[in-house]
Amino acid sequence: MSTNTISSRAQELSENIYHVKSLISQVEASRPARRPVTLVAVSKYKPASDILDCYNAGQRDFGENYVQEFIDKAKELPADIRWHFIGTLQSNKAKALAATPNLHALHTLTSSKTATLLSKNLSPNRTSPLKVFIQINTSHEDSKSGLSPLSASDGDGEDRETLISLCKHVIRDCPGLHLEGLMTIGSIVESKSSEENKDFARLSETKSRLEETLRSTLEEAEGLIWGEEVIDGNGDGKGRRQLLLSMGMSSDFEEAIRQGSDFVRVGTGIFGQRQTKSG
Ligand SMILES: *Cc1c(COP(=O)(O)O)cnc(C)c1O
Repeated sequence: MSTNTISSRAQELSENIYHVKSLISQVEASRPARRPVTLVAVSKYKPASDILDCYNAGQRDFGENYVQEFIDKAKELPADIRWHFIGTLQSNKAKALAATPNLHALHTLTSSKTATLLSKNLSPNRTSPLKVFIQINTSHEDSKSGLSPLSASDGDGEDRETLISLCKHVIRDCPGLHLEGLMTIGSIVESKSSEENKDFARLSETKSRLEETLRSTLEEAEGLIWGEEVIDGNGDGKGRRQLLLSMGMSSDFEEAIRQGSDFVRVGTGIFGQRQTKSG
């Protein structure tokens, strides 16, 4: 064993994580009390050595976007990492994805077919269900995947049915999965705006509307479990079942937390710029 020298890259990553975490804490302190925000370090295109440096600095939640890259990294990295899959998932890759025992959460569920495949093909070595977030396309951009958000003007439309039936499928028919919440990416324009982010507001409104339905149908009528108990600061100190929100990236995670985020996904802000295929 060599003496305790820490590389300059390890030093840099550790400082970046510390910096992002302190910004998260500052914003958390200024909003109504809620469960602590989880920082997901998004490591796509970055080498396993970077992830290990962050791990040694105490980071445990990491996000990956590509199935093969994820599988390869998970194999060689510590087994107590909580992996979050945040990339678009084609149903034909669901089985391969599900085989990694420490896959902690999927943030991009959009179909019942994929949900069934994941639930049926989970590793037998898992100790808990796979948490899933349903992706919502709050900005209605063709380039982004996700189901439509719910709003006051929807009534009982088709979009509403699609989202509710996916939730019910996960809760009732997929014993390997746990419906954890909702996720959005949001538009770049909103991300750069200095005002309230409309994508985050749409996700938050969708969450409230969906929760009402889940409470009255599945929870009260059938005793089924979804989301997490959250103390929502209404004074009685009691938790209520809520959906958690995955929103906020390097450029907008502080605003996302102000607007109620529980999971922020930060890549560039920790690892620096990425070399991407598309540039
Ligand atoms: C790449 C990616 C991120 C991280 O983006 P940064 O801007 O680098 O922080 C977050 N969420 C998703 C879904 C991503 O694909």
